[in-house]
Amino acid sequence: MNNQLQLLIQLSDLDTQLEELKNERIRGKEESLGFKVQAKEAEIKKFRDTLRKKIGSDLLNQYDRIIKRYKIRAVAQVNDGVCYGCFMALPTSYVSEADRNNKIITCPNCGRILFWIE
Ligand SMILES: [Zn+2]
Repeated sequence: MNNQLQLLIQLSDLDTQLEELKNERIRGKEESLGFKVQAKEAEIKKFRDTLRKKIGSDLLNQYDRIIKRYKIRAVAQVNDGVCYGCFMALPTSYVSEADRNNKIITCPNCGRILFWIE
């Protein structure tokens, strides 16, 4: 798999976790764990900063535009030809097999960056 794509998948996972933690705090869920949540957030942000430094700036800009729009899951997997970000079927032969996971491909419907489960 394309190394940048792999990094984007990890970044998307961290951003999704951060968003979930944020929502947890807003809901005031498990208040006694508030400090733990903050510590976890700080830890995730550290990993996130390191990751972002390894991703090309153009790609990072593209990613940031998507995550700004959706908050979570800027990168979605494709299963049986369906984008798991928006659950629309991709046009058949939208992407050649050789390009899957090797090029940065976005969903024609939701614009998320796609990766394929082998
Ligand atoms: Zn989609």
